[in-house]
Amino acid sequence: MSKLLIVGTVAFDAIETPFGKTDKILGGAATYISLSASQFGVESGIVSVVGGDFPKEYFKKLNAKNINTDGIEVVEDGKTFFWKGKYHNDLNSRDTLITDLNVLADFNPIVPKKFSQPEFLMLGNLHPAVQMAVINQIPVRPKLVVLDTMNFWMDNTWDQLMEVIAKIDVITINDEEARQLSGEYSLVKAAQKIYKMGPKYVVIKKGEHGALLFHEDNVFFAPALPLEEVFDPTGAGDTFAGGFIGHMAKTEDISFENMKRGVIAGSNLASFCVEKFGTERMETLTHNEIQERLLQFKLLTQFDIELG
Ligand code: AMP
Repeated sequence: MSKLLIVGTVAFDAIETPFGKTDKILGGAATYISLSASQFGVESGIVSVVGGDFPKEYFKKLNAKNINTDGIEVVEDGKTFFWKGKYHNDLNSRDTLITDLNVLADFNPIVPKKFSQPEFLMLGNLHPAVQMAVINQIPVRPKLVVLDTMNFWMDNTWDQLMEVIAKIDVITINDEEARQLSGEYSLVKAAQKIYKMGPKYVVIKKGEHGALLFHEDNVFFAPALPLEEVFDPTGAGDTFAGGFIGHMAKTEDISFENMKRGVIAGSNLASFCVEKFGTERMETLTHNEIQERLLQFKLLTQFDIELG
């Protein structure tokens, strides 16, 4: 049985940043999530869909990291989901230029038997009806269900998104999306409104300004590491989510205290993702590099102060 099941897009991305451009490279929410989570050595598998145009070597890249791809359906006469984005000069914001759903448009996910009882479920960014269809195929509720989504699905599939949000434990979204979802400008008020929709934990990603974890009246803040070079932020949010769920699945402790460590683990991995275009940096990342940077995170946030 697979311990961690990941649902999300497996995609072609075309990216433009102030530092360069790429044509159709490997991307997608499930791709980034799984590469990130693979650093924790938990058995994982993806449920997704691609077209006949998807290169076989991309499966091999994932399999090389021990990520099971049996649940990625290949529609031979279809085209893979395609996303094109362009970053602004500050790299904190981007415009989506193209979202071609292609084979995702009428995807009916089938969870392979081997993955039908995951202990941890990561519902990565894709159509909420697909996220729901996966939940419905899992008879025993996983220990933790985490969902990531984006403005595209809020704009186009609000009701279906609300149905799935009602079923999850943790939502990870960026600050703009939290505001859109809740209709509140204050992120504290936004989190409180989002609790009422279902999730007991709300993680709000703020790009280079770190991430906030809300639970009841508690808030935890994880900074983003100040980096010398940021090349391409694509996938940082998914890499963060993959690091979070990877840590939770490895430690099997779903307490708020451990979620704080999960948020740090996610921020740490996301800091690598942005250093190169696409998935490149995540493919070469080593355990030692991760450990060294975790230490930098500790040093960044540790201080001693006397309370008067
Ligand atoms: P992030 O930078 O973490 O928000 O994620 C970027 C990834 O999300 C890219 O690799 C895209 O392929 C994927 N993506 C973009 N738009 C969507 C969408 N509407 N649904 C699912 N995945 C998407």
